[in-house]
Amino acid sequence: MTEYRNYIGGRWQEALSGKTAEIINPATGESLGAAACGGREDARMAIEAADKSFYSDGVWRRMSAQDRGDILLKVADEMEKEKDNLARLESMNQGKPLREAECDVDDAVHCFRYYAGLITKPQGGIYDVNQGFGRMHSYMVHEPIGVCALITPWNYPLLMSVWKLAPALAAGNSVILKPASVTPATSVKMFEILERTGIPEGAANLVLGPGGSVGSELVENINVDMIAFTGSTEAGQQIARASVGNLKKTGLELGGKSPNIIFADSDLEQAVEWAMIGIFMNQGEICSGGSRILIESSMHDRFVSRLVERAEAMTIGNPLENPDIGAMVSESHMNKVLEYIETGKKEGAICLCGGKRCTEGNCEKGFFIRPTVFDGCDSSMTIVREEIFGPVVTVQTFDSEEEAVRMANDTRYGLAGAVFTRDITRAMRVIKEVRAGITWINCYNPCFNEAPWGGYKMSGTGRELGIHGLEEYQEIKQININLEEGPVGWYK
Ligand code: NAD
Repeated sequence: MTEYRNYIGGRWQEALSGKTAEIINPATGESLGAAACGGREDARMAIEAADKSFYSDGVWRRMSAQDRGDILLKVADEMEKEKDNLARLESMNQGKPLREAECDVDDAVHCFRYYAGLITKPQGGIYDVNQGFGRMHSYMVHEPIGVCALITPWNYPLLMSVWKLAPALAAGNSVILKPASVTPATSVKMFEILERTGIPEGAANLVLGPGGSVGSELVENINVDMIAFTGSTEAGQQIARASVGNLKKTGLELGGKSPNIIFADSDLEQAVEWAMIGIFMNQGEICSGGSRILIESSMHDRFVSRLVERAEAMTIGNPLENPDIGAMVSESHMNKVLEYIETGKKEGAICLCGGKRCTEGNCEKGFFIRPTVFDGCDSSMTIVREEIFGPVVTVQTFDSEEEAVRMANDTRYGLAGAVFTRDITRAMRVIKEVRAGITWINCYNPCFNEAPWGGYKMSGTGRELGIHGLEEYQEIKQININLEEGPVGWYK
């Protein structure tokens, strides 16, 4: 049986309690192996290892940016060589179609390369100043924060881990990764790669286990300097409260309920296809998902009938055979999404397609839900207000630009949103009114290593990716150098 273990202080080890948790392939219900089920004591051991690595040994943080970058480039090369294995494992553990897992590995490889290069580029600045004490140079230098705990969700297990590992390590921090307990497989493979590419002992640690024990210890422990978290808004709120002991820096990438606004002058086929990518990619287990379609009334009938036709034609089945829709990550998550679907029906939304579990063909033993479109929705409904995190989209209509913007912003979230129209002036006007951190015009969901990613409102704080994503893992130090000779003459 495959074993997934912790990696602490440069050594692979079982959970200190000896406990394990079975890892399930959600498409087949079969076991993928046993993972260490760590607890607070394992987290503490990893914190000690990271603390020693950063504050006592200092090997990683003192290395030149170029040397750290070179190691991260080797990590990217090794990941690329292992692309097929990583993608298959991700697909089998998470349930996503293989081709989507392959894209995730490509993105992860480029993320390491991006930060390996970025860390060698100029940062900070030099100011030529004089405040009455004579001429000085004031330098800004960027330094690592220290011990960073990285806590990730199950929807993009590899990619969400790499979005954090790559900038945090590039900046010179020592890190502890805690992946979601149901999807540890590719994180373990990732650490095997980190080990053989020469990351010094203790600079990168991995602890598997539940959020309530491993996660809580990382959040509460005063020897952790930063928490970078991606997950639900509720867990983000708990983390914000629990991390105040030593005023840890926190980066929170949280949930969403994002609007996809479609005006009647849009290209129908383009709008339908992007709307599908917006909500059915990754089985709808996507934080930025365009889960609320807002359509101009005069286009509603044409749009909805085409969307339903295309959604009904989507293939669903074993992710390794590359269907359009794979398996939900777990039985419990599938049941949660099915409950939302039932609530939608009870509250009067009209279920036009999907709306149930799929057990046909090779879906028999897995956790599959057909793509679901709800029409006739209004903003008081639970399925319009709450994040479902499945292949479920709601449709509402609007008659004016102002109404569309009001409906778009009628949510506690502010992660993402899109506008479809052929009128670029209107597109810009509307997108500027949408209170969200990531927006698209005439497309939905592409994201790039170069561009900052993060939410407004209750979708989080801070940004990942791009230059901002590196700065999240850095302190800024001011160094002032006196350029004058002799006494300044302040005291006569
Ligand atoms: P989750 O909040 O249940 O768990 C996320 C991670 O946090 C897991 O590793 C979990 O074990 C850990 N955790 C949970 N409670 C914790 C606590 N109190 N203290 C410390 N750690 C804790 O989220 P999930 O169900 O794994 O993922 C789905 C959620 O993630 C959705 O809400 C989705 O929108 C969000 N998400 C956001 C982004 C983004 O970029 N904004 C990206 C992906 C997913």
